[in-house]
Amino acid sequence: MSTPVTLTFLGAAGTVTGSKFLLSSAGQHLLVDAGMFQGLKTLRLRNRAPFMMDPARIGEVLVTHAHADHTGYLPALVKLGFRGPIRATRPTLELAEIVLRDSAYLQELATTDAIRGRYSRHTSPTPLYDSSDVERTLPLFRPVPLGQDVQVGRDAVARWTRAGHILGSASINVATDDSSVLFSGDLGRPTHPILRPRQTPPPARTVVMESTYGGRLHPEPAGPGHEEMAEAVRRAVAAGGQVVIPAFAVDRTEGVLHVLADMMADGRIPQVPVVVDSPMALRVLDVYRAEPGELLPGAGMEWLDQIPDLRETRSAAESKTLSGRREPMIIVSSSGMCEGGRVLHHLARLLPDPRNAVVLTGYQAVGTRGSDLSEGARRIKLFGRYVKVGARVVSDDEFSVHADADDLIGWLRDLGREPETIYLVHGEKESALALQDRIHQELGWTAVVPRADEVVRVD
Ligand SMILES: [Zn+2]
Repeated sequence: MSTPVTLTFLGAAGTVTGSKFLLSSAGQHLLVDAGMFQGLKTLRLRNRAPFMMDPARIGEVLVTHAHADHTGYLPALVKLGFRGPIRATRPTLELAEIVLRDSAYLQELATTDAIRGRYSRHTSPTPLYDSSDVERTLPLFRPVPLGQDVQVGRDAVARWTRAGHILGSASINVATDDSSVLFSGDLGRPTHPILRPRQTPPPARTVVMESTYGGRLHPEPAGPGHEEMAEAVRRAVAAGGQVVIPAFAVDRTEGVLHVLADMMADGRIPQVPVVVDSPMALRVLDVYRAEPGELLPGAGMEWLDQIPDLRETRSAAESKTLSGRREPMIIVSSSGMCEGGRVLHHLARLLPDPRNAVVLTGYQAVGTRGSDLSEGARRIKLFGRYVKVGARVVSDDEFSVHADADDLIGWLRDLGREPETIYLVHGEKESALALQDRIHQELGWTAVVPRADEVVRVD
């Protein structure tokens, strides 16, 4: 008789954030991913709900990749008593360290602002965790190799397989005597501009799969791609203006630099200075540089040399000198949705002048300044003042590093064996349901969209 093994969907069920999946068997518990809920307040409040069990009883946490919606809850778990190993690939752990320190910093900042009476919709009176919780989390990190079985807990083995989403990202197979579960993590497109492509993980009886773009296909760009961005840069430079590109610090900054480097090499945009002005993005860039084995063979990060004048402003003082510069340049800075970070200073300075341009490079959540800008706001609030939007604002939608619906079906087909059940997570309800339909119709396989906190048997 097999031992019952259960899987509990603690997050990313019917939504894209808060990934947390608990595997339990014979009193042993493994958590796969410990993500933070992000976005709307109703979701963010779930970070503060009591954890379903005493985290001290969780043996280990296995992490697919470093994005905060997969790692941001780790320090909260530690604060609540978790003391076990946190396993992931080495680049994931290096990036997670940067992501978690930033997350604690932002929460501390929000708290100080709240105490000073500057309440905004993003503040809450006490942080979920602070820097000291992050510093107690980092010593629990244990790097794992790709493609090899690793003993986890008393009775399970896990194997990480490259997922091609961001540096270090992986899918994880977890097997016990009585169960095998494959967690896709976030899956990249078959062609990431910088990273080695994803590999096919071993098949499993149960598959837990992301469905972010389950209902959509990425558009095939006409011509060489990113033409809106190229055109915005050419126009601004010709007018003697500057371009600011808000970009997420993890992976998106690398993607933007790669596109700019190619455009300069191909003569599509003039060779003006490019400034990376975000301490977090520069730390991430260092991690990418230090992991040549994970980058496309032969390409490394050498393509950066195609930008003849690349400047990295690490200190706040260096950053401030940028405000005195009037010549055409491109400034890449975070945060990607214009909700914080040095990009706010550049926006305050550059937005009023119609010679300048802002290029948005990713999903802009409703209610963010980035979303307001993308919808043609005539003014936005920065540092307590309303700033006129005279600059040209364009949205470049070609940067996604998420598999689209066709890619997701392709990933399932590549597994080569029909799982008993596929659980579709990490997608808004409509995306998950659309993918469920396609799986039924095209593969004839069983796919389920689990409810939040639903428990299923996987033995
Ligand atoms: Zn991700």
